Amino acid sequence: MVTKQEFIKDKKYLKLNEDGDFVIDYNSKIDIIDFHTHMSNVLPGKIVNPNIEGNQLKYETLPDMKDMDLSVPYWRKINPDEKKKGIISVIKFSLEGYKIFKDMANGGTYENCFKSQKDNMIKTNVVLPLSTKKSDRSMEALRLAKDYPNRFIAFCSVHPHDTEMKEKIYKYKTLGFKGLKLKITDMELKDDFKPLIELFKACYEVGFPVLLHTGSLTHIKRENTSNLMWKLLKSTKVEIFGKLLKELPSDFKFVFGHSGIAEYKLVAEYLKEFPSSYAELSCQSEDSIKYLINEVGYERLLYGSDWPALPQAITLSRVLLATEKNEDARSHILYKNAKDLLNI
Ligand SMILES: [Zn+2]
Repeated sequence: MVTKQEFIKDKKYLKLNEDGDFVIDYNSKIDIIDFHTHMSNVLPGKIVNPNIEGNQLKYETLPDMKDMDLSVPYWRKINPDEKKKGIISVIKFSLEGYKIFKDMANGGTYENCFKSQKDNMIKTNVVLPLSTKKSDRSMEALRLAKDYPNRFIAFCSVHPHDTEMKEKIYKYKTLGFKGLKLKITDMELKDDFKPLIELFKACYEVGFPVLLHTGSLTHIKRENTSNLMWKLLKSTKVEIFGKLLKELPSDFKFVFGHSGIAEYKLVAEYLKEFPSSYAELSCQSEDSIKYLINEVGYERLLYGSDWPALPQAITLSRVLLATEKNEDARSHILYKNAKDLLNI
């Protein structure tokens, strides 16, 4: 059994804090912007008060130590023969999702957030609410930014099937939101992408950058899955969003959330095709970040962590590794590109 202490011994830029959580091991005076974070009150379901104290965060998205491999996106050892067959796999998949969600809602508090910001030299979190058709969590994100204007920047989240979609986007612009976030799948849209394109167009009109969860795990083979599992695994694949960009003006600012996870090479291709698109790096590896820098340059890459689903330190340490001899790339990825994109 590998302990966390043993695991990070040879991992440059990472250490453990007094609670045994991964934190950054780096000293420099930079004001980092984390472009992908959530909080306890911006998730669907019950709104959890971020002022609650004493809740512990478990980072349920991280694999167990024995399965962890920071050299690949998603940081989970790849088993090319991984099987996800039958209904049990689907149930397990849903249960894991539920556990992650519970942990984020429980641990995404001010107390934990501020500690993580301090431990990791992060000045500002871009907070991304997750709205559904029935529950719009945008105003909760705005409340955070109003309470702590130096620590948070609020994105809104409007579902494409929201009957007041357009009015809301215009209203949210005047209220001070800086962009829009959405997590949506082709299954949920039933392969009808028109409402999503309308939403993108409204965002374009008001000048909102749009960040979507993009990407899937590509190592699982079709024959090792059931039909339903395959559909689930592919439901946020990068290709869906790349195709939609063809329907939009070339200066529409789209951010590929997670840089497409295992599909980062396809994200690089789309970044070449669409000059106003960006890639947000949460859950990427040193090598995949280097790949993106080499293919598309560093001016459209954004540091993001997906906290509190994942620790802020791990992606940050991967960015530091990937930019060891390139100070300019480092400062662009850690805050300059974000400032440009957000106009701040
Ligand atoms: Zn996220």
